[in-house]
Parts: sequence; structure tokens; C-alpha cells
Amino acid sequence: MLGPVILAASRSDKMRRLVSAAPVTKPVVNRFIPGETVDQVVPIVTDLTGSGLEVTLDVVGEDITTPEQATAARDAYLELIERLKPLGLGTKAEMSVKLSMFGQALENGHELALANVRPVVEAAAAIGTTVTLDAEDHTTLDSMFAIHEELRKDFPQTGCVIQAYLFRTEEDARRLAANGSRVRIVKGAYKEPASVAYQDKTEIDKAYVRILRILMEGEGYPMIGSHDPRLIAITQELARRAGRKMDEYEFQMLYGIRSDEHLRLAAEGHRMRVYTAYGTDWYGYFMRRLAEKPANLLFFVRSMITK
Ligand code: FAD
Repeated sequence: MLGPVILAASRSDKMRRLVSAAPVTKPVVNRFIPGETVDQVVPIVTDLTGSGLEVTLDVVGEDITTPEQATAARDAYLELIERLKPLGLGTKAEMSVKLSMFGQALENGHELALANVRPVVEAAAAIGTTVTLDAEDHTTLDSMFAIHEELRKDFPQTGCVIQAYLFRTEEDARRLAANGSRVRIVKGAYKEPASVAYQDKTEIDKAYVRILRILMEGEGYPMIGSHDPRLIAITQELARRAGRKMDEYEFQMLYGIRSDEHLRLAAEGHRMRVYTAYGTDWYGYFMRRLAEKPANLLFFVRSMITK
């Protein structure tokens, strides 16, 4: 019940100002977003990879309003890649990007986002790693998939994300599985209308399993983005049935959520990648984490009251 309300608030400028300015917000935010600068996140990358985990790094930010902000986003990723270079981690540290942050919603946004993301993908490839294009709300996806296809002509390792809650996704999964893509499958984190997306949790879970099967039986590299214990178990079973070895798919979870499970799966020999977001523009990312689990909101509100 609370989830949709919080998701609506994630797009409100008034709420953004209120929540961002509250002094008590910081410790709660830090649970999900461990730093605001590249200096703060690099030691976290070292710690996580030192524990046998892999990472994907997201410089938080979305819904920008000027081309200059899009250029700044590109430069923030280029700086990050430069800082990762001496660590020699290769694909153990990859990047996740939101095309809205690269200008996708601005005038000529498709071309602008492609022009801004390409140098990031090139720089990532130059240090032996890759980039995954996150999935945002459904109105942005045709452009995201077209950019993904374009980038893959030169950088076939470029990944993308598909969302189980959307009716269109089984079709997308079939296309991507046949062309050998790296594909992250997630349930979906945005507020979507009933005309395009399942609203019922059980329906979303069932769709997730159908899509997982398509990916596992296909020719691509499935990346399972979920904390759901049932889906983790189903993934292992479907991988076994499809004859995939442990390095022919990977699990991905968000920083700060079910951290023991990250280590457990890695210790079993699985590839486990931790999606680690950092930066100053954390509001939208943070609110989606609250929406996924209302208990997080109670924790947040309680910390405001007891301070
Ligand atoms: P749920 O049923 O929501 O959760 C299962 C269990 O996990 C819960 O019972 C709880 O114990 C735990 N849990 C889940 N979320 C939280 C939380 N916020 N706080 C505390 N505990 C929690 N969505 C997009 O739309 N586009 C993307 O590009 C995208 N990328 C993602 C990348 C990764 C690596 C992951 C893990 C998720 C991503 N998501 C993305 C978010 C995703 O769509 C879901 O909103 C999110 O993963 C919650 O779904 P779940 O599969 O974990 O299952």
C-alpha cells in the first residue's frame, strides 16, 4: 500500500528538498548509498572485491534538465573509470548507467544520451570492463534498447536491464537471449500503469520466472538482480536444467540489502555482483529503496522522531 505513495513522492521536488535537507536522513541513506564521492567509494570497491564479490557502480542522478548536467554525468563516470584503472579489477568492477542522467529526456535526447554514454563505454572497455544500461520507466525503454543495440556493434559486452513487471518484457527477453546479450532481469522499481505492467506481486514473480527460463535457455549471459530467496533457488534449478556452469550467469544484489546472502552465494562459488550507488543526487534511488520495503520507511521515520 505504501509503496506507490513513496514512488509518487520520489518524483516530487518538494519532497526531494524536504528529505534531502533533513539532518537525520544521512545515516539512513548511508545504508544504501555508502558515499558521495569517488574517494569514498573506491575503498568500498576494494573491500567488496577483496571479499570475493564483484561490483557494478552507479553514480546516482536522474531527471536532469540541462545538457551541461548530462556532460557532468559523463565526466563523473570517466573520473570513476580513471580511478578504477590502477586497481586492475577488469570485469570485477563494472558500471551501471541511467540514460536519463545522460540527457535522454532533453531535446534530441536519444542522440544526446548516446553521444554521452559512448565515451563511458569506450573508457570502460579500455580498462577491460563493461557497462550495463539500467531500465527506467517504460516510456524510456525503446530508446534504451536502441542505444544498447547501437553500442553493442562496437562493444558487444554492453549489458541492459529488463523488468519482469512489464507486459512487453517476455518479448524483449526472447530477442536479447537470441542475440547473446548480457541481460539483468529485475522485478522493476518504478510506478507503472496497469495498461503496461502487472500490479500484483504474484503475477510479477510468475513473469520473472518465465523470463528467467527464456534467458537461461538462451544464448546470452543472464544477470539475476533480486534479493528474493525463492527466485535465487529457482535460478539455481533453472541453470542446472539448462546445463549452465556457475560462471555462465551471475547474481546481483543492491549494496546494503541482504549482505550476508551476498557472501553466502559467493562462498558457494557463484558470481555475486553488488550494485553500489554513490554520489550526491541520491534522492530518487533512496526513495525507490524505501518503496520496496515499507519497514525501511518506518526505520527512517523512527530515526527522525528519536533524534
Ligand atoms: P522483493 O520481493 O521486493 O524483495 C525480496 C526480499 O528482499 C524482501 O523480502 C526483503 O527481505 C529484501 N529486500 C528487497 N528490497 C529491499 C529493500 N529496498 N530494503 C530492504 N530489504 C529489501 N529496477 C529497475 O526498475 N531498473 C533497474 O535497472 C534495476 N536495477 C537493479 C539492479 C540490481 C542489482 C537489483 C538487485 C535491483 C535492481 N532494480 C532495478 C530494482 C528491482 O526492480 C526491485 O525493485 C528490487 O530488486 C526489489 O525486488 P526483489 O527482486 O529484491 O524482490
